Amino acid sequence: PQTLYVVATPIGNLADLSFHALAVLSRADLICAEDTRVTHQLLRAYGISGRLISVREQNEQSMAQRVIDALAAGKVVAQVSDAGTPAICDPGARLVTRVREAGFTVSPVAGPSAVMAALSVAGVTESDFYFAGFVPAKSGERQQRLKEWQKVVCPVVMFETPHRIMDTLAQMAVLYPLRSMLLAREISKTHETYITGTVAHIQTVLQTDANQKRGEMVLVLHPAEVEKQVDLSAEAIRVMQILVQELP
Ligand code: SAM
Repeated sequence: PQTLYVVATPIGNLADLSFHALAVLSRADLICAEDTRVTHQLLRAYGISGRLISVREQNEQSMAQRVIDALAAGKVVAQVSDAGTPAICDPGARLVTRVREAGFTVSPVAGPSAVMAALSVAGVTESDFYFAGFVPAKSGERQQRLKEWQKVVCPVVMFETPHRIMDTLAQMAVLYPLRSMLLAREISKTHETYITGTVAHIQTVLQTDANQKRGEMVLVLHPAEVEKQVDLSAEAIRVMQILVQELP
């Protein structure tokens, strides 16, 4: 059957587009993009002149029918988001489901994702991680989630925006100032920066250098060391969990 290709695109450096992605986008009759202007720039950089349509969360259902019709007519269809891997905090999931339900194959063309890029330089030794998506915008909800993530025993990967990062760091610094974290900023772009250390240290760095607050960012929060010690008795862990609940 015809295939919808879900294609990962660069998160910064345009050279991160894979040969496979280039081949698929080059022969696509129809490319479903998030913002067609953003994808147009990528295609232009590679000399590709594909037909672009905008598929956003709001019109994903109606656009799905158009994609299904195109596949039924034997067309090659690709889906991309503005940057990185589609459907990861980006549109794409509903389209994928509808197309598969209609009997077509959906195949990923794997490539860049800010999640994996940040994790790969975070120095995590655990074999698992928790992807938390965007840190909530509202202060109360954010506080609740930050507390939940405090207890997660594997690295927690979060997306954050420049205009909220200081508020988030301030709330984190109250909850767990000494917890190790990585702030990965502008990965693969001109001003890429990686700040590691305690939450309190990262907060100080951003307070003293406004440039460090700019651009796109990912946080990787390491789990608490004490929670990783396997030789603690069950009773000690129980007492500690009670104490942690009581801490502000
Ligand atoms: N689907 C995308 C992916 O797989 O990378 C993520 C889309 S999400 C809407 C965008 C968020 O990803 C940004 O707000 C930022 O947190 C993170 N991000 C994307 N590109 C980045 C980059 N070059 N450096 C750091 N973070 C990035």
